[in-house]
Amino acid sequence: MTPVIALVGRPNVGKSTLFNRLTRSRDALVADFPGLTRDRKYGNGQLGGKEYTVIDTGGISGDEQGIDAAMAEQSLLAIDEADIVLFLVDARSGLIPADEAIANHLRVNQKKTWLVVNKTDGLEEHSAMAEFWGLGLGDPRPIAASHGRNVTALIDEVLAPFPERNTDSDADALPPADQGIRIGVIGRPNVGKSTLVNRLLGEERVVVFDEAGTTRDAIEIPYERRGRPYVLVDTAGVRRRKNVSLVAEKFSIIKTLEAIKECHVAIMVLDARSGLVEQDMHLLDYVLSSGRALVLAVNKWDGLESEQRDKMRSEIKRRLGFADYADLHFISALHGTAVGDLYPSIERAYKAATAHWSTNRLTTILQDAVSEHQPPLINGRRIKLRMAHQGGSNPPIIVVHGNQTASLPEAYKRYLTNTFRKVLKVRGTPIRFEFRSGA
Ligand code: GDP
Ligand code: GDP
Repeated sequence: MTPVIALVGRPNVGKSTLFNRLTRSRDALVADFPGLTRDRKYGNGQLGGKEYTVIDTGGISGDEQGIDAAMAEQSLLAIDEADIVLFLVDARSGLIPADEAIANHLRVNQKKTWLVVNKTDGLEEHSAMAEFWGLGLGDPRPIAASHGRNVTALIDEVLAPFPERNTDSDADALPPADQGIRIGVIGRPNVGKSTLVNRLLGEERVVVFDEAGTTRDAIEIPYERRGRPYVLVDTAGVRRRKNVSLVAEKFSIIKTLEAIKECHVAIMVLDARSGLVEQDMHLLDYVLSSGRALVLAVNKWDGLESEQRDKMRSEIKRRLGFADYADLHFISALHGTAVGDLYPSIERAYKAATAHWSTNRLTTILQDAVSEHQPPLINGRRIKLRMAHQGGSNPPIIVVHGNQTASLPEAYKRYLTNTFRKVLKVRGTPIRFEFRSGA
């Protein structure tokens, strides 16, 4: 399990600045579902051999009317999901009552908390720290997020108790599918994940599973269908019947991130009744950049008027073009309609994601593609593409060797991707291309 660090503090103390410094923003995922005062942002980072996830909570209100008002709901949720809390205060504005209100909460909370004093650039560290000792949260740690001062050293220390892990984060590091293809059911709140999970399991034999009680572990449920083993990596599903309460409590981005990391194939559930919303796009982006095999399930297809169906279809076509490698199913989890059709897509996506192709075969496809359509001339010299071999799997990586490959136009890369996809009959997984120029 990747350690999770929550950034907590008043507005303007520098949380977003620190978040950006600690994460690759390409990966950032925003929890913007309804019922929460402000967004939480999730991002991944890496230091030495260790990976971590950072949550930027953005919004503890500054006008404190007691702790309830001072601590926005979503900050509490983030603290709940985190292993480590970095409590940020501002050396320039000094200690103010809102900081004390937050500190009071953090002192009773069981989470490992670090008191971080930001914006110490240009200040004398020792005197800048003095007033924060009184918060009773241990040694104040001076940093300057915008300059990067002391940030690496702090994170290094924060992560010290956590073991190094294999940073080769692609799914090759996952257990192979001997024990079953691992299926992650993901999607924003209320799209029907729990209903789908219960439906998927309803008629099948559930082997055994450990129903962990924490807010952040995705549960794994091994089961069999028609003699084939599968493992559901569930983020919302079966446990829900026991504790239905706040949507926000049920839905956890951390669980979603874990499930994506831990599955071979993700089923992304969309809601035909609400249409596509930003949160869907964020999640989908995340799945794509993770390289996971993907099946799209448009749920709640039952009882829709034909105009509603047409509207959803055209919205998907318009906005999800970038995910058109994934099989698309229109289902009703509630009634079970078309749910069984997900399995052939899951099998196909897994097979494609883990396929191995010989250098011979890939090179032949490349050469055929090139003779069909020559790459362009660059400064009077034609780009040459000579050979292709497989550089990895899940997602498959195809390495193409040639000359001047850095100048290969995007349109030509798309042409190659489409050609390889078609000839190799790859559906359900992204394919990555790497181009190398050699002598
Ligand atoms: P947030 O509301 O807690 O997320 O705070 P932001 O990250 O948006 O930062 C608020 C302001 O403080 C911005 O103008 C930042 O540029 C500034 N800031 C952040 N970190 C530092 C720092 O280390 N030193 C100084 N001088 N300014 C900083
Ligand atoms: P989750 O938050 O993604 O786990 O969503 P739930 O499974 O809890 O479903 C949210 C709501 O949508 C519930 O009221 C379900 O009964 C309803 N729902 C789920 N699937 C369907 C479906 O296929 N059709 C219809 N009409 N409603 C559904």
